[in-house]
Amino acid sequence: MHFPFEYVILGYILIWGMFFLKPCMKPLFIPAAHLKEKPTDESKLGFGRIFTDYMLVVEYEEGKGWYDPKIMPYGPIELSPAAMVLHYAQEVFEGLKAYRTADDHIQLFRPIENIRRMNRSCDRLCIPQLDEDNFMEWMTELITIEKDWVPHAPAASLYIRPFIFATDPYVGVKPSHTYKFIIILSPVGNYYPEGVKPVSIYVEHEFTRASKGGTGYTKCGGNYAASIKSQVKAGQLGYTQVLWLDGAERKYIEEVGTMNVFFKIGDEIVTPEKGDSILGGITRMSVLELLRHWGYTANERQLSVAELEKAAKAGKLVEAFGSGTAAVISPIGLLDFGDMKVTINNGEIGSVTQKLYDTLTDIQWGRISDPFGWIKRIV
Ligand SMILES: *Cc1c(COP(=O)(O)O)cnc(C)c1O
Repeated sequence: MHFPFEYVILGYILIWGMFFLKPCMKPLFIPAAHLKEKPTDESKLGFGRIFTDYMLVVEYEEGKGWYDPKIMPYGPIELSPAAMVLHYAQEVFEGLKAYRTADDHIQLFRPIENIRRMNRSCDRLCIPQLDEDNFMEWMTELITIEKDWVPHAPAASLYIRPFIFATDPYVGVKPSHTYKFIIILSPVGNYYPEGVKPVSIYVEHEFTRASKGGTGYTKCGGNYAASIKSQVKAGQLGYTQVLWLDGAERKYIEEVGTMNVFFKIGDEIVTPEKGDSILGGITRMSVLELLRHWGYTANERQLSVAELEKAAKAGKLVEAFGSGTAAVISPIGLLDFGDMKVTINNGEIGSVTQKLYDTLTDIQWGRISDPFGWIKRIV
């Protein structure tokens, strides 16, 4: 059998062509000269203060796409002072956790939802999206390398922070042509070192965080920059967080701090319906699925301050809580409406709130089986 030389060349081109069409995007591993000491006292981890040995860095250039993925030592990055992100905040991020199970597996909770949400944020901010498979593979590879950093202490975890920002050195408002995608990892402690405690919240009538047509439904840095003043005000007034109202009329409930919010009014559990101005939390989505699975009436609908005040006066506001990856479930014990203060469930965690907290954390840490297919085991 004789193959003409041209066939050999053609085959060669075809194979390399396939290779470049779905480029081999395995990150280059650059080992660190020294590894850090891991924290010995996991009860003192706090949140987001300690970072692991490695980070993932991927570059983007218009016309070239995402390229050059690297897992490299965690450290400062070089950036032009004119980098567009520093001036116009073209940036998006995500937040999720890796959990260590009792039998030493490492697992993630619904990571595909974070990947898809990041791409939706990218779309709104005119940032190029990432291939879902590449994102998942890069993230799992980084966590696999850093698996010893996933804490062992109860309710402690490894916080995962993916983010993308504009790097063109250019002063002028337009989409950047170049970006960096980075994932950093931070071991974080138990959010409730003294047990789950209800927080006090005031209803923010002055500042708003989002409005129709805006970026409230995305995780972009600018949203959070704009919320800090209100957060500071809450602290000065002696509250933990603020309850955000809609940007147009200050009439409808939106979110609480950086969490979605739920109220149990009589037998109905209500959370504001998603829209431009509400972040579609993955915890929110999971809470709704769990509640409906258990047979509760859980509705996503418009909820006004007036309705909530009325329910409170009638003694029908029986539970309230925030939901988000960091705290999972954060019960609300006191709501200050400005014209009235309401103590919910005697300032104690309600039974549905407790059941949600227990079930979600049991699934996340692998203490109970996961009938929903939410867990992705990576080690
Ligand atoms: C991240 C976030 C949430 C919660 O989302 P999860 O996916 O549950 O962590 C809610 N509201 C805001 C404003 C957020 O940034």
